[in-house]
Amino acid sequence: PKTAEAAPVPPVAGGAARGRGTPYDHEVRELLDRMTVEEKLGQLQQLAWSWDTGPGGGETKDVEEAARAGRLGSVLSIFGARSSNALQRIAVEESRLGIPLLFGLDVIHGFWTTFPIPLAQAASFDPDVSRRDAEVSAKEARSNGVHWAFSPMMDVTHEPRWGRIAEGSGEDPYLTAEFAAAKVEGYQGRGRHGYGAKDRVAACAKHFVAYGGAEGGRDYNTVDVSESRLRNLYLPPFKAALDAGAATVMASFNTVGGVPAHGNSHTLTGILKEEWGFDGVVVSDWTGVQELVAHGFAEDGAAAARLSLNAGVDMEMVSTTLREHGRELVREGRISEHRLDDAVARVLRLKFALGLFENPYVDEDSAIDGPTAATRRAARETAARSMVLLKNEGGTLPLKASVRSIAVVGPFGDSDDLLGTWVVPAAAKKYPSVKVLDAVRRAAPDAKVTYARGVTPEGTSTAGIPAAVAAAEAADVTVVVVGEPPALSGEAAARSDIGLPGAQERLVRAVAATGKPFAVVLVNGRPLTTGGWLADAPAVLEAWHPGVEAGNAVTDVLFGKVNPGGKLPVSFPRTVGQIPVHYNHESTGRPYDADNKYSSKYLDLPPDPQFPFGHGLSYTTFEIGAPKLSRTSVPAGALHAGDTLEVSVTVSNTGDRAGDEVVQLYVHDLAASITQPVRKLRGFRRVTLGAGRSTVVRFRIGAKDLGFWTNDPHGEFLVEEGRFDLYVGNSSTAKAKRTLTVT
Ligand code: BGC
Repeated sequence: PKTAEAAPVPPVAGGAARGRGTPYDHEVRELLDRMTVEEKLGQLQQLAWSWDTGPGGGETKDVEEAARAGRLGSVLSIFGARSSNALQRIAVEESRLGIPLLFGLDVIHGFWTTFPIPLAQAASFDPDVSRRDAEVSAKEARSNGVHWAFSPMMDVTHEPRWGRIAEGSGEDPYLTAEFAAAKVEGYQGRGRHGYGAKDRVAACAKHFVAYGGAEGGRDYNTVDVSESRLRNLYLPPFKAALDAGAATVMASFNTVGGVPAHGNSHTLTGILKEEWGFDGVVVSDWTGVQELVAHGFAEDGAAAARLSLNAGVDMEMVSTTLREHGRELVREGRISEHRLDDAVARVLRLKFALGLFENPYVDEDSAIDGPTAATRRAARETAARSMVLLKNEGGTLPLKASVRSIAVVGPFGDSDDLLGTWVVPAAAKKYPSVKVLDAVRRAAPDAKVTYARGVTPEGTSTAGIPAAVAAAEAADVTVVVVGEPPALSGEAAARSDIGLPGAQERLVRAVAATGKPFAVVLVNGRPLTTGGWLADAPAVLEAWHPGVEAGNAVTDVLFGKVNPGGKLPVSFPRTVGQIPVHYNHESTGRPYDADNKYSSKYLDLPPDPQFPFGHGLSYTTFEIGAPKLSRTSVPAGALHAGDTLEVSVTVSNTGDRAGDEVVQLYVHDLAASITQPVRKLRGFRRVTLGAGRSTVVRFRIGAKDLGFWTNDPHGEFLVEEGRFDLYVGNSSTAKAKRTLTVT
């Protein structure tokens, strides 16, 4: 073997010759030639720093020893300029080859400045908000020694019970792909190695793949998908993220058709690395390699190491099967040196591209230590832009500036814990969210503002409800802030009942019984069932988990400073028994028909969700005209060769105040060799229009919008001849359509 024996060698750090912009092949080769098998395996090992104990505590001694021995490639959950520099110094100055460490962190929707949760951001239907989140996050994180964000998460899901729905962009692959690409660009900057810049980080497209298909919405559960569903529903966001330059990909915890994603050579090597030509790093998820044993896919740790590396995982997070068994596996020829070198080369290339060999440290004096006025403004605008007005009867909202008394009611009215899941712990501690109560007081300085909690977030006691009712009775208007605490969404936070937890519904109904005007503000990480109380509530604003500026953003919308324009990125089911209910379901042989006993329906429920994908109201009204097509017929061959056509539509603000509308384009392929979804989102545009103003929105559509992936495992994409209905409107239930014929 070419692998060298361990001997003292000069370190490789520094060297202006290794300029940016080269593919680093030469540098990587040179380094590989000098590495022992142990050092190579070391580059493929990622260990966790302890979030709580920091330097000197918990697991950190292990990490330091491994770094010193050159048996560590990466560390997760370390941040802070001083602590990351201190650990980096050990790797660079004390290890034999001086290869710098790569520091990764779950920067999901903010580092210091916590933006609204990703699901909320998707509701903005404006990918630029996510680009900006990622830019702000990258700058804050990088200055604190973080090179790599484990984000964006792009797991499409039809499962509102799944807690991780909060981390993605909802139920649609097209919307998710647009947000994934924007977020990658925000983290990494544009260009192949934009993340070499001092204010950028490498992104991680996760979780590969079909994690959102977990049966029953239970986290980590089995996923069995056809090749066509894999390619049409789950893969498009990953392809978009890689086209945007995503440097890394994380494997998912689930199985895909019986083969765990961490040992799945079809998805990791066949599709990702060969078909798509991905030359970046595939990192395992936390102990995901070791878990091949629990999956019943690998007999022991050695088998897990072999199966995952050979399937295409390049770096092992937290578990240490490769470190323990790699040398033996290479000696026995069960892992080829070629594959080992390939994995190591991917890791080294990333380190070169990040500029770590030139500058492994961060400047301790310029580490950003908190949000600024500008980043708070960005978080506030994003949160307000993400809110969805679900219902608004009798002009309940916006609240009048002249209102003399306001009661704020509900367990989240005075909560500073509205940041959502996956927040950097130090940020949560130092920069909690602005309380709704405080913001209402500021927004209505002349009004008398009272507060009554009523109930706790999850408790069943109703003892506090009478006080809340009294507050509501004494006030001109009441704002009821209810929902889910952040701990009820995110990883390992599936719920079987997705209604308001505890006694919160009782609270809403008691306030409704006063007969006084009120609005419900929902703070939550997933769609909620609203069945029991919705009819009693005149107005409902979906605020999600809005992040650090929560209260300010909520009041911006409540008082009409911001006219809400968000739309649901996911259907809200009527009941849990209706799940899965999503707009992009396939046609059945017996489609729903109220009069037909033998159609696909529940006896006790209407077929549609409570609120459909794409739904959202405004304080003004809009009219969307009939769509026009630049051509009503086009040859399939021309489409395949790159031809496109235009769909245009006029949208008018018919109300009396400025506002935003999201114009949405959906496609339905009426007859195809594989049953198609009844609708697929293929374009959206959020426009701002003054009262009485109109504009024309134009969409270009081509082969990728009209075709679909077949069940061919090597990837066959077809645009078939036939008719396509193109719907345009302001939700997935849009009625106006034009028919296109592909010849
Ligand atoms: C999650 C990942 C995350 C990783 C590192 C895992 O449990 O599934 O999304 O990036 O932990 O914290």
